[in-house]
Order: sequence, then C-alpha cells, then structure tokens
Amino acid sequence: MPPPTAPAAPQATLLCVHPHPDDESIACGGVLARAADQGVRTVVVTCTGGEEGDNLAGIDLGGEDLVAHRRRELAAALTALSVTAHHWLGYRDSGMAGLDSNQHPDSFHTAKVEEAAARLAAIIRAERPQVVVSDDAQGTYGHPDHIQAHRVTVRAVALAADDAAPVPGAPWQVAKRYVHTLGRSRLLAVHRALIEAGLASPFGAAELTRVEDLPLGADDDAVTTEVDVAPWLAVKRAALAAHASQIGPDSFFLNSPEALTEQMFASEEFVLEEGSVGVARGREPDLFSGLDHPTQVRQ
Ligand SMILES: [Zn+2]
Repeated sequence: MPPPTAPAAPQATLLCVHPHPDDESIACGGVLARAADQGVRTVVVTCTGGEEGDNLAGIDLGGEDLVAHRRRELAAALTALSVTAHHWLGYRDSGMAGLDSNQHPDSFHTAKVEEAAARLAAIIRAERPQVVVSDDAQGTYGHPDHIQAHRVTVRAVALAADDAAPVPGAPWQVAKRYVHTLGRSRLLAVHRALIEAGLASPFGAAELTRVEDLPLGADDDAVTTEVDVAPWLAVKRAALAAHASQIGPDSFFLNSPEALTEQMFASEEFVLEEGSVGVARGREPDLFSGLDHPTQVRQ
C-alpha cells in the first residue's frame, strides 16, 4: 500500500500591517518586493485611508479629492511591489498627535483595540500568513495611528490563534511576528551623510554625534533580522514614487545620491517579538528564516 501523501503545506505568506497608504512602501517596500520575487504570497493591510494627509507635494489632483487620489496611488504602489492581496481595515486617519482629528469617532487611534483586532484577526485567518509585520510599540516615530497599529496587531495575532475568539474563520497560528525598525547606528550614519551632502535630514540640521541623541530607532543589539533588499531598490523607489502626493520629487526618499540611497535602503531591519529566531547567531537574513517554507532567493 503506498504511503499516504502528506497534505500540501500552505504557501508561504507574508502579511504587513500599515496605518496609512505609503507606509507599506517606506517601511517594507524592499521585503515585499523581494518576497514576491521569491514566490511568497504578500498581503498588505492598510488601517486608514490617510484622510489627514496633506497634498504635501502640491500636485494637481484634477479636482479629485485627496483620499480617492491616495487610493489610486496605493494601488499603483502595490502593483509595483507585486503585492498579492490588499485589505482595508476601515478606519479613519487620526492625524498627528494633538490634532482635533484624533477624536473623530472613526479615527483608528480611538478605536477599541479589541474591535480593530477582531477585524484584523479575521483577515489573518483568511490569509494564513506565517509571518506578520507591523510598527513597533513606539509607533516608529510616535504617530498615534502607528502606535495603534502595533497594539492592534499584537492582539490580532493572539485572537487569530484562539479558537474561542469571536472571529470568523478557522484558528490560525502565526509563526513569527516582527516589528519593522531602524538600527540607531545606521540612522546616525544616514543623518550625517545627508547633512554632508547638503540635503535635509529628517532629524533637522542638528549636529547629532551620539546614537543616544536620536529621537527614534532601535538599539543595534535589539535588531534580530536584516534583510538584503539591494536588488529590489529600483522597485522600492517606483513604489515610493507612486505616492506622489505624499513623497514629492524633492523628498530625500527619491532625491538622494545613489550611494546614500544604498546606505539608507539596501537592507530593511526588523525585531522579532513573537516566535523563534531562525539562526544560531547573528542577524537573520530573511523573515522566513528557520521556517518550513524556505524561499528561493533569486539575486
Ligand atoms: Zn503613516
């Protein structure tokens, strides 16, 4: 009698949670493009419509309102990154900390974590990702929606696995939950290189000399995972450029000398918060390191 055939393993799937349209390209554009090229299914969840964003680049919207325009920009960015599936979580952009929009009844920031997490857990159960990525607990740079994205993602991963949770779909255990981050020594080097090149640094013109002076970023020792995305820099740039209302042509994202762009974007860094690190020592080279879904690195 032939041995029973093992059920097919579910396809490797990466799910990234981002508060606003454009965050997916800024924070995870490299790993999304790389994963798609490796045959991994990629899923992006956008928590809000970016209602409080301004037309920063002052582009001609041709009478279209900014939210509709940003939806089209996001669609173009997702196409550039070859993202498999996209979901809206259905909340409203809370705006920067302290604005009246923080208190809007539909704002993501004021949403009940349990309710928002149940929505996200239903998406996780439907998409069955082994790996989930979100902002860190500080909301990367402190924006209320980015802080909420971390809270909601942590809870959603727990709810998705809990067979008693009132969430549609079969329970699903995510193997690894990460936050995207930036190591402080790399941030400091980028800041100095921007100033030296005569370009605007996001940290202003201040003479920062110590990593302790940086207002954000992770301790270098805390970074568990550093993914080489250099071969996908052009794709990441195309995705960033698709968000033309938010990332103007004079932004350092698009306007830096090639060597500086490499320094800033050639790898993307993460901290594993749930699950096991997949390498014995050093930083993991891939978000799927150590999982049963080896990905074919094509470089
Ligand atoms: Zn954002």
